Amino acid sequence: MTNKYIYFVANWKMFGNINSLNSLNNVIKFSKLSKKFKFKLIYCPPYTLLNLFFKKVKKSNISLGAQNSHYIFDSGAHTGSISPSMIKKIGAEYVIIGHSENRAGGESNFIINQKVKSCLKAKLKVILCIGESLKQRKMKLTNKVLKNQISKALEGIKRIDNIFFAYEPIWSIGTGIIPKVDILQKDVEYLKEFISKKYKNSRPKIIYGGSVNSKNIQDLRYLNNLDGFLIGGASQKAKNFIDIVKKSFI
Ligand code: PEP
Repeated sequence: MTNKYIYFVANWKMFGNINSLNSLNNVIKFSKLSKKFKFKLIYCPPYTLLNLFFKKVKKSNISLGAQNSHYIFDSGAHTGSISPSMIKKIGAEYVIIGHSENRAGGESNFIINQKVKSCLKAKLKVILCIGESLKQRKMKLTNKVLKNQISKALEGIKRIDNIFFAYEPIWSIGTGIIPKVDILQKDVEYLKEFISKKYKNSRPKIIYGGSVNSKNIQDLRYLNNLDGFLIGGASQKAKNFIDIVKKSFI
């Protein structure tokens, strides 16, 4: 791990309702330790809960993010969509872009690039998801896939200060399987090296996502050059989420 702040991003996907807000009380209390132990908590609930979440966490050390965005900056005739400026105005600071579940639904690298640009323009911090399928990994294409996804997503983007690169091997999401830590370390090193060459004098922020839980965090915490974790299933119960954070520094 780095000796900077470690980020823990809770991706609630299409889960949660108004009653889920109560589960935040313990996390809000726990977040008081965030300066002392150098961690940051970011919650990405479904759109329907963003406003309620914002009211609940605004005086705490928890930040808010959306799980996706339209690529049009402000507004337009796009039924069912939410724009970067709407997300920003509701009080969110982060947005997840390019999640493999959305890529699988047809989101192209070109659209992802448009989304990243609009979200940065709205002064949102982008959590850009990248990752290979199991077939691509078996064919030893991981680096090539990552390079291509990053290059396309960042076309025309000059600075990456407000981008987090979330490395999420698709075969690890929701499966309970994580990469071997030594292999994951090599993937993280590859990403760091590739991105720092592309953006001279930058310090790319890389987080890992895929089946992180309170058991495997005890191995994952020893990864070098990693800035945090994107956590799906295990973030939905406050106790599990808090356990993951605690076990990453205790
Ligand atoms: C995710 O959806 O980004 C994710 C990492 O999910 P899970 O932790 O459930 O694998």
